[in-house]
Amino acid sequence: MARLAQTAGLTDIQREILATVKDFVDKEVIPHAQALEHADEYPADIVAGMREMGLFGLTIPEEYGGLGESLLTYALVVEQIARGWMSVSGVINTHFIVAHMIKQHGTDAQKRHYLPRMATGEVRGAFSMSEPDLGSDVAAIKTRAKRDGDEYVIDGAKMWLTNGGSSTLIALLARTDEGAEKPHRNLTAFLVDKPAGFGEVVPGLTIPGKIEKMGYKGVDTTEAVFDGYRIGADKVLGEAPGQGFGFMMDGVEVGRVNVAARACGIAIRAFELAVDYAQQRRTFGKPIAEHQAIAFKLAEMATKVEAAHLMTVNAARLKDSGQRNDVAAGMAKLLASEYCAEVTQEAFRIHGGYGYSKEYEIERLMREAPFLLIGEGTSEIQKTIISRGLLREYRAR
Ligand SMILES: Cc1cc2nc3c(=O)[nH]c(=O)nc-3n(C[C@H](O)[C@H](O)[C@H](O)COP(=O)(O)OP(=O)(O)OC[C@H]3O[C@@H](n4cnc5c(N)ncnc54)[C@H](O)[C@@H]3O)c2cc1C
Repeated sequence: MARLAQTAGLTDIQREILATVKDFVDKEVIPHAQALEHADEYPADIVAGMREMGLFGLTIPEEYGGLGESLLTYALVVEQIARGWMSVSGVINTHFIVAHMIKQHGTDAQKRHYLPRMATGEVRGAFSMSEPDLGSDVAAIKTRAKRDGDEYVIDGAKMWLTNGGSSTLIALLARTDEGAEKPHRNLTAFLVDKPAGFGEVVPGLTIPGKIEKMGYKGVDTTEAVFDGYRIGADKVLGEAPGQGFGFMMDGVEVGRVNVAARACGIAIRAFELAVDYAQQRRTFGKPIAEHQAIAFKLAEMATKVEAAHLMTVNAARLKDSGQRNDVAAGMAKLLASEYCAEVTQEAFRIHGGYGYSKEYEIERLMREAPFLLIGEGTSEIQKTIISRGLLREYRAR
């Protein structure tokens, strides 16, 4: 992108990584995205390319074999990838969240065991909080983990695991009996090892199959059924029972920056497609871009792209500086996902009838954008987080 979504103050290394990723997206992702998405086919070659570039270890510290890059670098990489195809960014996102949680909250043994193999992409992470009966209301989780000597026995059903089939490690939130009064204090995060695949992948854990989705295809989204599944107590994240809710929320917070970045990527692509099409398509004797109604749409779309990008960069930088960023991440996610839906819709309208044809990329973006209004917390949940944070800071005296 020549003019939009530029980021001031990047290091040479960040610029180099972004240039490499952009080149990869232009050559290896965009030309194949449409066909793979329509076939709902896992992008195995693209994922192999990302492994080669070291993207699975982008934010994992160098001492564990990763590139040790910041959340900002990650967000900008995700923006580029989502510009090519959002599903590809979905492949690395849950992996990145799980690596972040292990890095921040894991024991030394857990870090040594998982992070080097996560950095190469040999171990791939999925993140599981949602259940058939709940998504926003995480503290209501029903899946139970009952202590039995040195092990826990897990029973329950999980829903909406992005990378549920292709991952080999699930960060799972389950209810344990800690005797705490507050419900979220009775939740524990587990590191569940499993082979990739579907069916009963290990005794007591079944990954039934892919959920058919309206968009966000290619990447597998699944259920997970735990039935008497046994796991060692050493697989409790941080060996800290009852602290899982906080650990997962920390993961979700960086995940929100990632969703905002994805929304920026899709909006950038929608703008690129629209601005091209508007200069080629002629009506009433001139390109439609010369009709003020269309030119103004382009102006508004570009302004939204720019605002969303800046807020996402701001939220990532705040987290990187070690400051609390729940409000900033919530604002970035809210604004970027809502603007993405609007920009995509306007690009679709600019394409006229062709926007409805499966031959045109905008048709795919139209099906992808709505997911961003829901994933990592709906817009209503973002508003709840933002307003709570504001009322905390602006408390009337
Ligand atoms: C493709 C896809 C992939 C996903 N991947 C994952 C994953 O990898 N891991 C994972 O754990 N989950 C995942 N999810 C689940 C996702 O996080 C939830 O769908 C999301 O959090 C919303 O939860 P819900 O679907 O249960 O909706 P609900 O919580 O039932 O909400 C329904 C509606 O009510 C509104 N609402 C709920 N509570 C309130 C309130 N207090 N105030 C105002 N409005 C409210 C919501 O905003 C929404 O509009 C995925 C979902 C999808 C669709």
